[in-house]
Amino acid sequence: MARLTPMMEQYLATKAQVPDALLFFRLGDFYELFMEDAVTAARELEITLTGRANGANGGDERTPMCGVPHHSAEGYVLRLVEKGYKVAICEQTEEAGASKGIVRREIVRVVTPGTVMEQKGLQAKANNYLAAVVVREGVYGLSFCDLSTGEMLVVEHDSEQKMLDEMLRHQPAEIIVPFGEKQASYAVTLHDLLACVLTEGLEKTHGLARASEVLLGHYGVMTVDSFGLANRPLALSAAGMLIAYLDVTQKRNLHHLKMPAYITSDEYMTIDSFSRRNLELVETLRDKGKHGSLLGLLDETVTAMGGRLLRRYVERPLANKIRIEQRLDAVEELYKNLLLRDDIRQLLDAVYDLERLVARVSYGSANARDLLAIGSSLAVLPSLKGRLESAGAPLLLDLGQRIDHFDEIVELIERAIVEEPPTSVRDGGVIRDGFDDYLDTLKTASRDGKRWLAELEQQEREATGIKSLKVGFNKVFGYYIEVSKANIGNVPDTYERKQTLTNGERYVTPGLKEKEALILEAEEKMVDLEYQLFCQVRDAVSVILGKIQEAAEAIATIDVLQSLATVSIRRRYKRPVINTDDRLHLVEGRHPVVEAMLKGEPFVANDTLLNTSEHQIALITGPNMAGKSTYMRQVALIVILAQMGCFVPADHAEIGIVDRVFTRIGASDDLAGGQSTFMVEMVELANILHHATPRSLIILDEIGRGTSTFDGISIAQAVVEFLHQSPKVGAKTLFATHYHELTTFTESFAGVKHYSTHVQEQGDSIVFLRKILPQAADRSYGIQVAKLAGLPQEVLARAREILVDLEQGGHGTTTLSAGSEKSAPSSAPLTSTAPATDLVREAAVAYEAAPVAIAEKTPATVP
Ligand code: ADP
Repeated sequence: MARLTPMMEQYLATKAQVPDALLFFRLGDFYELFMEDAVTAARELEITLTGRANGANGGDERTPMCGVPHHSAEGYVLRLVEKGYKVAICEQTEEAGASKGIVRREIVRVVTPGTVMEQKGLQAKANNYLAAVVVREGVYGLSFCDLSTGEMLVVEHDSEQKMLDEMLRHQPAEIIVPFGEKQASYAVTLHDLLACVLTEGLEKTHGLARASEVLLGHYGVMTVDSFGLANRPLALSAAGMLIAYLDVTQKRNLHHLKMPAYITSDEYMTIDSFSRRNLELVETLRDKGKHGSLLGLLDETVTAMGGRLLRRYVERPLANKIRIEQRLDAVEELYKNLLLRDDIRQLLDAVYDLERLVARVSYGSANARDLLAIGSSLAVLPSLKGRLESAGAPLLLDLGQRIDHFDEIVELIERAIVEEPPTSVRDGGVIRDGFDDYLDTLKTASRDGKRWLAELEQQEREATGIKSLKVGFNKVFGYYIEVSKANIGNVPDTYERKQTLTNGERYVTPGLKEKEALILEAEEKMVDLEYQLFCQVRDAVSVILGKIQEAAEAIATIDVLQSLATVSIRRRYKRPVINTDDRLHLVEGRHPVVEAMLKGEPFVANDTLLNTSEHQIALITGPNMAGKSTYMRQVALIVILAQMGCFVPADHAEIGIVDRVFTRIGASDDLAGGQSTFMVEMVELANILHHATPRSLIILDEIGRGTSTFDGISIAQAVVEFLHQSPKVGAKTLFATHYHELTTFTESFAGVKHYSTHVQEQGDSIVFLRKILPQAADRSYGIQVAKLAGLPQEVLARAREILVDLEQGGHGTTTLSAGSEKSAPSSAPLTSTAPATDLVREAAVAYEAAPVAIAEKTPATVP
């Protein structure tokens, strides 16, 4: 058997280093892929699959191959990465012919979903996280890194559920688990739940000792104590594993990565993943879009940095009165001082995504346009700083002080970089005249040479009398004089023939050759020197990276505050009063998103009073479509807004700080189907009953709807009893149900107040007035709602008949639909709550066995 060609041998050796990535192998102006990689890439990118002789089997054997031009490779790489592949970029690392034999090639970077740096592969207003997780004895260490901004976070959690919840909050694009743990049960759950790429760490060791070594090396510190994570060994291990992975895949210094910051939780309100989803905080349930979510409503940020931070504010409202009020003070000042807010918005408008720009500088991928964007952004900062330092709110003042002066670097960039530089930094045309003497000399030489050439054409035309004579240039022959066939007879002897064309001849002269050498040499030197000068400017930015990052954080915060103020003004929100007591009191509260979406119709405002004693549980009855869910969600959203530091849609709001918001929203609203729907509901409910505290706010919408009427009522009542009686709980609760029987059973409960949605009967129709009244509903109006929905007349008439029969104590003359409990009248009193309590207990057991997150994605697999 013949040997493989040397190039194929080199390819195979390189490929062996990155078995799980698609290898882009640089050959001249193309990146080529071979074998399996070629088949995959051709399919995914819809490009042509060809073949190449590989030297084996007497030179006949062909290897599948496909390729993309190097100058347009970025788009192809990003498309593959977006589909979840990793792409290893292998470059020629020496000039062709620099050494004997085949050109040296090396992998310079592996692009993975969690390490994208290219602007086109990132969403401006969302982070792109790479996560790592390690687990030991039930404790999980997590780290998150957004390589494109330099953010680095760590945390430890003592249960799988909390770990999953943290992951869901960050939505990483890629998660690293320790070597050999891809099939571990937590890893499989993560993979199913987040539908993201799961990568095994490349190193076999991932313990604290190795992690410390990696971290010390990366951050250049003497001891891990510098991270303030002395008693967080698992968080450190996760951070070490993550950095080790970055080292191997990125193969360069990543100075822009900030020190790992520990995610503290006692400062923040906890919102579990169900509630984040149910309340549509950052995306809607229906189409997962931002439009229609709370974030979509609040986003009046001007910069991408502000956009990303706002998302974090929405997902993690504060739970600390001092910090909330600091934000509210700042928002209030921006709310009242229109001029200040307008100035700030205008200044921010000129600020580019500094966080990602400086990350690219440090990463080595910034071009001249990026430097200009940094320069012009930094140039705005003195004015912004000045405006903030003239403000009264301490937070605004503080933010102003956190912005440094950048005059020197601004001046350097302005002086160095031309107004409209090309995207490439290797081909010249980047540096301004007057920046560097030697560069100017070279430029003059090149310009003079070109002028000489232009003059030469005229001179030679006159000297030879050939009017059509031209001076031209091509890559192979350099500069030449072209004469058409008809005029060849007039060419002087000093012309030396170089090339024959169909219609003429090309010549050179000694003078032309001499000038050509000068011009080409000057241009080559110019391009090299321009690149060097560009790198100097880029390095100067790199040196003050930390200062720019700090300013960027301050800018993001200001942007978020002005966004909150802008929305508050537009929507006529009021400043909430923040308390540390247990009272939640809203006068004329509105649902922020529904209100904004209603076209024409006015939104009907409603009051709310909840506390941990006589107003602990609001039991809300009323027909479907009457506005119960809207009302309950509005209470949760107002609390979230207030604790973010935003004004709220209410005439008056007193908010006793809430530690957690829980929601359990009607099963039929979920897409999950069949019996498992009920299981999902029970698992979520169990989560709430386990974790609620007296400072929590619970929203329960139609508990027990996924099962038969009797089971449903039993469970609903047992839950109300549990919330009401358990000393551990006492959480403020809004509970909507269309089992109006429940109101009778709970009449004697001191902490339960009854409410209903006001509907007006008009003949056999109803009108929804959307007002919440302080009394229980006496009936469900199910048939009237069915009529509104357009059910056929005969079905409605028949339903009325059956209802009358049932209400009179009959069993209905027709068998009720399969699945209903044996047709006892629905108003029959329940004599025992034992079965219901059992069900709740069962659900609790199921919950322990199947962590909350499994149910969210794959309810059918819950045991
Ligand atoms: P329920 O939970 O009682 O079935 P919803 O809360 O889903 O009812 O409300 C049904 C629809 O009624 C909502 O989609 C919304 O458009 C409208 N709606 C609800 N509350 C109000 C209100 N206070 N003012 C105006 N329209 C409302």
